[in-house]
Amino acid sequence: MPSKKNGKTRRKPTNAYTRYLDAQKSLPVRRESVYVLSKQQRQEQEQQQSRQIKLLPDCRPHAKGRPVWRSRNDVDHFMVVTEDHTQSGQQQQQQLSTGAPQLDAICYDVMREPLPPIHMEGTDIVPTIRGTRLSICAEHTHFPLVSRIARSMGFQQVPEHRLWNVQWTDCTPHHDLLRGMKRFQQINHFPGMMEICRKDLLSRNLNRMLKMYPGDYRIFPKTWLMPTDAYDVATYASKHKRTYILKPYSSGRGRGIWITPDLKTVSKREKLICQTYIERPLLIDGFKFDLRVYTLITSVDPLRIFVYNEGLARFATHKYVAPTLGNSHNVYMHLTNYSLNRRNSNYNVGEGADGGSKRKLSAFNKWLLEHSYDVAEFWASVDDAIIKTIISAWPVLKHNYHVCFPRHDKIQGCFQLLGFDILVDWKLKPYILEVNHTPSLSADELVDKEVKRALIRDTLNLLTTALVDKEQIIRDDRFKHRTRLLRKVYQNKRGMPQGTPGSFPSPGREAGGCETPMGQACSIGALAQQIAWEESHLGNYRRIMPPMDSDRVNYYCKFYDQTKHQTLFANTDSSRRREQLAHQAMQRQYREKRQQEVLKQRKQQDPLLTISPVVLQSRSRKEEVETQRCKHRAIIAREIYRQRELLLAPTCAKEHLGIWQSVVKIPKMEERPRVRVVRCTRGVSRPQRRKQLRNVSRRVRQQREIEREAREDTRFVEQHAMKQSPRCQGATSQRSVAKKRSRSQTLICRSIDKWAPGTISDGEQQEHSIWLQERTKQLNGSNLREMIFSKMYQQGHLTKNDIKRFPDLLFHMLSTGVPTVDTP
Ligand code: ADP
Repeated sequence: MPSKKNGKTRRKPTNAYTRYLDAQKSLPVRRESVYVLSKQQRQEQEQQQSRQIKLLPDCRPHAKGRPVWRSRNDVDHFMVVTEDHTQSGQQQQQQLSTGAPQLDAICYDVMREPLPPIHMEGTDIVPTIRGTRLSICAEHTHFPLVSRIARSMGFQQVPEHRLWNVQWTDCTPHHDLLRGMKRFQQINHFPGMMEICRKDLLSRNLNRMLKMYPGDYRIFPKTWLMPTDAYDVATYASKHKRTYILKPYSSGRGRGIWITPDLKTVSKREKLICQTYIERPLLIDGFKFDLRVYTLITSVDPLRIFVYNEGLARFATHKYVAPTLGNSHNVYMHLTNYSLNRRNSNYNVGEGADGGSKRKLSAFNKWLLEHSYDVAEFWASVDDAIIKTIISAWPVLKHNYHVCFPRHDKIQGCFQLLGFDILVDWKLKPYILEVNHTPSLSADELVDKEVKRALIRDTLNLLTTALVDKEQIIRDDRFKHRTRLLRKVYQNKRGMPQGTPGSFPSPGREAGGCETPMGQACSIGALAQQIAWEESHLGNYRRIMPPMDSDRVNYYCKFYDQTKHQTLFANTDSSRRREQLAHQAMQRQYREKRQQEVLKQRKQQDPLLTISPVVLQSRSRKEEVETQRCKHRAIIAREIYRQRELLLAPTCAKEHLGIWQSVVKIPKMEERPRVRVVRCTRGVSRPQRRKQLRNVSRRVRQQREIEREAREDTRFVEQHAMKQSPRCQGATSQRSVAKKRSRSQTLICRSIDKWAPGTISDGEQQEHSIWLQERTKQLNGSNLREMIFSKMYQQGHLTKNDIKRFPDLLFHMLSTGVPTVDTP
């Protein structure tokens, strides 16, 4: 029976990966150094190299385990020296002195393991960075290809809470995560990249740039944001007969997209992107297609952009026909999304070459060449469109980067792999349709695998993460932290005054790093290292920004000044609103200023105005209230006077109305019996009330007539009495005469001739005047107003107007209770 120990020590059959690592361990470690050469030295070097050293046509890392001098026209100011680290120091020095006698400065110097001369089964990926102990966190990506390739490249897989070097995530990282990143960490999203990755923001930015640079920014189809630009698009549609494509603001995979020639059918409220439909796209084998171009941004300040030479061309699955009412709903004809077309039975799973619904860009290039198109010119225009799209968001990207990564002085804190969707028209003009911030890295088909595996490998290889010494940075940060905490203690010990500058060396300096200028996170030295690294690890990438051509560099410089064009920049919805508000505020200020000036002038003229305006205002308000009150009082007084006049007239009308009986002194509060307040009007219907009103007015009319007659009678009697005073003896009193007189004028006239009244005696006159005085006194003493009001209230004759005009009377009446009044 074999022992347990023997069983344990027995060697298990190894898989390809283990064999590969074992083989790699046995290989010698290499040192890779990059030097900068000046132009003169470069020329001399080239002459030497042309004789002795192998010149490589491109910049791919083709070092096959032996020292290599690399040079290329566009990157020839960098020289990569790969040397065998296992050689003795003397040999190395000798080699350097003979090979690179005029080296300017060393850019970077890293330990790398050489590419092993073995071929892994099932994969052509070879690890390039090992021994530098890099780690990757790929927890938050649902593309397993990323972690698989990173692992095969020697990256260690770690969870998020560990100190990873690179994090690859599918979602936009939170601000807190970015702020908390260490100086050696890199993440695959730039903050603010949504400026070009959301359809609405992309079109807003590109439209803005188009307004500023109309000749340069024709890189996307005419686009409007609905409903904001509904009027503009309607105006355009009235002049041009076009087909439009409508897309929701933030959806993908062709969801919610439709094509229409009639914009009247579009809802006025829905948030949509409206684009002119490119009706004549370039067709291959009769099918419409779009290009997925992978673009890597390694830095935003300075802007460095790389485009991958390989990509995908995605084809529709129905042969293309220009849009008509009959076919515009056919998504398999007009849309080229893989997620849509794979559902169609016509979907052709090819091998990425000449057939199939998904092909490689190399196959597309081959097709172009075969059909005599200028491939270089086409890709130059694609590069141009990509650069311009990214530059449109550059101010935001730069600002956000500096806000989130103020301490990243060694390497860039971010990189981003973008997927540009490009449609090509029949004239071979590329149009930017969309920018994906997380392009799909799933490997559904063989063509996907071939393109995406190499893409991920080259992307990870291009990252400068290998340039930083993680341990050193951790040590530095600890030292910095400790220094900050113990600063006071040391200062006290040394007897230095607090806050003495230069009392402690800055950790950056102590660690051999150079101080970074303000507003720039990465130091110049670190940037030089980054550039050198990137130039020597391009893989299948090509650098498009900064461009190789100096004329192009100058051309793109003008787009960096976009924020200076304030007047044009301001022509957006929000800025227009802002301008409007600013204008209103200015007008308000101007008005206030004018008012103040006028007030000042008045103050100078009138010393009264020295009183503060608040006091003046309150005074004027008081005055106003007082005048109102006066008016009110005057109205009431007039009304009382009128009523009194009426009442004082000695007629039987009042008796008829029953008012005389009501002229009783109102007892005081305590004496007064409690009266139940009854609103008589409540039970009276409207027709009844009208009838009552009619009756009352009829009666009043009659009474007035009688009063008038009585007044005339009195006057007549008085006049007659005065005339007849000496001879008329024993005449009856004026009142009795008045009573005796008939009611009609005719009767009076007839009776005058026959009837001769006697004189009014002094006693009678006196009695009458006493009676008048008493009555007046009685009326004045009594609360007439209240009485009349309550009477009218009880009889239901109060109008709205009365209540409005005499609210005090109503209040008084209701609070004290309606006094009992005898009704006639
Ligand atoms: P999504 O994000 O949903 O994929 P895209 O903007 O990429 O939306 O459009 C989906 C597809 O619609 C594209 O692949 C393309 O084939 C087609 N398409 C989009 N815009 C236009 C256009 N202006 N003209 C012609 N075809 C277009």
